[in-house]
Amino acid sequence: MKAAVVRALGEPLVIEERPDPEPGPGQVRIRVEASGLCHTDIHAAHGDWPVRPSPPFVPGHEGVGLVEELGEGVTHLAVGQRVAVPWLGWACGRCEHCLSGWETLCEQQINTGYDCDGGHAEKMLAWADFAQPVPQGITALDAAPLTCAGVTTYKALKVAGVRPAQLVAISGVGGLGHLALQYARIAGARVAAIDVTDEKLRLAAELGADLVIDARKEDVGEVLKRHGGAHAALALAVNEAAFSALNSGLRRGGKLVMVALPAHGTMPVPIFDTVLNGTSVIGSIVGTRQDLAEVFQLHAAGRTRVIRETRPLASVNESIEDVLGGRVRARIVFDLATEG
Ligand code: NAD
Ligand code: ZN
Ligand code: ZN
Repeated sequence: MKAAVVRALGEPLVIEERPDPEPGPGQVRIRVEASGLCHTDIHAAHGDWPVRPSPPFVPGHEGVGLVEELGEGVTHLAVGQRVAVPWLGWACGRCEHCLSGWETLCEQQINTGYDCDGGHAEKMLAWADFAQPVPQGITALDAAPLTCAGVTTYKALKVAGVRPAQLVAISGVGGLGHLALQYARIAGARVAAIDVTDEKLRLAAELGADLVIDARKEDVGEVLKRHGGAHAALALAVNEAAFSALNSGLRRGGKLVMVALPAHGTMPVPIFDTVLNGTSVIGSIVGTRQDLAEVFQLHAAGRTRVIRETRPLASVNESIEDVLGGRVRARIVFDLATEG
């Protein structure tokens, strides 16, 4: 099978021929049909974060495909069934976090495409309990971006406790942001979408943003304040300055939800404003299996649109450059079904 492999951090990926992986107890082998390119894969390949992955590894945590072989003890999935393999590849199921509905905070978790090989390959392994069944009617190509970009932003809005008629600011209308915008609208919020490329700003308007802010030309905090300030602001842009700008655009009691993970990112938090205005800064990491099931339900019901371009896996390095250069409509999905 072919796999896109990070052999050294900061180096281009290499397309390698590898033997098919054998599922261990509790695992399944999946024939990958589609695999979305999340910006996190780029951080992984570059070693951008304090906890670095160890090469060689195959990135990708939006892998979707058909179960091909069941490992020992797997009874609830069937060969031929379509499943999605998210970032949360495995969690212990026994700790305080797992038991309280916060498996995404499990200290023993294994992350797909970071701690173990991920979806940018023709075949992959997954722990059966964390491979999410994809409902009938959702294509693999659509399911892929929902598996990280979808679930992450759906969860971030839950974390912010967004309610109807609130003003929600979405900073960065990329893979994550284009879905965040739609979930905010489903929650009944008014949406302010912020980006720095004409195409993304047009996409935001097309997806129904009530207010579109061009961060190249406008002071994001000022514009948000003119509209009363954001009740919730999702920081999805891979840019530190964008975090501070959003924070300054909160209304009293507003919540900044940090989701993007710029390399070595820090944000000064003005203590006086935070205290007097009663604002919060919250981190949000992906979502649970239940959150992903809800994301799939919404999509199956026709409530969301996945904006994507499909490309061959062999384009992985050029695709990374295009994401970094802002030349991608929303999400690149590697189409492995057609290639095979
Ligand atoms: P992306 O590259 O598809 O989208 C980023 C968007 O931000 C682009 O549209 C870009 O034009 C825009 N942007 C750049 N500079 C900006 C600025 N100054 N102001 C406003 N917009 C700006 O990336 P993505 O795949 O959506 O991922 C975004 C970030 O989220 C990455 O850092 C990724 O690692 C992180 N992420 C976090 C989680 C989590 O669970 N917390 C999950 C997935 C991804
Ligand atoms: Zn991701
Ligand atoms: Zn746990």
